[in-house]
Amino acid sequence: MKMKHMMQNQTQSASANKKISTYLTMIVLIVMALAVTALFIAVETYLVGDQLAAGVLAGIGVLALVLSVFLLYQSKMQSAQVKIEVPKVMTTIGCVKPCDQKTVREFQRGDYVYKELDSSCQCGGKQMITGIFKEVKEKEKTYNV
Ligand SMILES: [Zn+2]
Repeated sequence: MKMKHMMQNQTQSASANKKISTYLTMIVLIVMALAVTALFIAVETYLVGDQLAAGVLAGIGVLALVLSVFLLYQSKMQSAQVKIEVPKVMTTIGCVKPCDQKTVREFQRGDYVYKELDSSCQCGGKQMITGIFKEVKEKEKTYNV
C-alpha cells in the first residue's frame, strides 16, 4: 500500500519536472543555436580576414555554448532535488452523517474543507471533505527533534 503511494508520487513529480525541463531545454537550445551561429559567423569573418572580429565572435560563441551546457546540467541537478522535496498534500473525506467512515486520498484541485462530494458514504449519507493536510515525511520529523 505504501509502496503504491510512493510510486504514484514519483511519477507525478516526474511529469512536473518534465514540464519545467522542457521550458529550460527550449531556452538552452535557443542559446546553443545562437552560439553555433556565432561560431559559424566567426569562421566566415576569419576567412574574410577580420581576425579580431572573428576572435570576439568565437569567444561569444564558446561562452554561450559553455553557459547553455552549464544551465542544462544545473537544471538536471535541480529537478533531481525537487523530486525528493515534493510534499504530498492529502485530503480527508468524512461523512455528513455522524458515522466513523473516513477515507484519505491525495489532494485534488478544487478541494476545500466542508466541500460536499457527489459520491455517497456506505451509510447512504453524502461524503464531505473534513480536512486537508500536508503529509509529514519521516525525514522532516527527525529535523524537528
Ligand atoms: Zn456515513
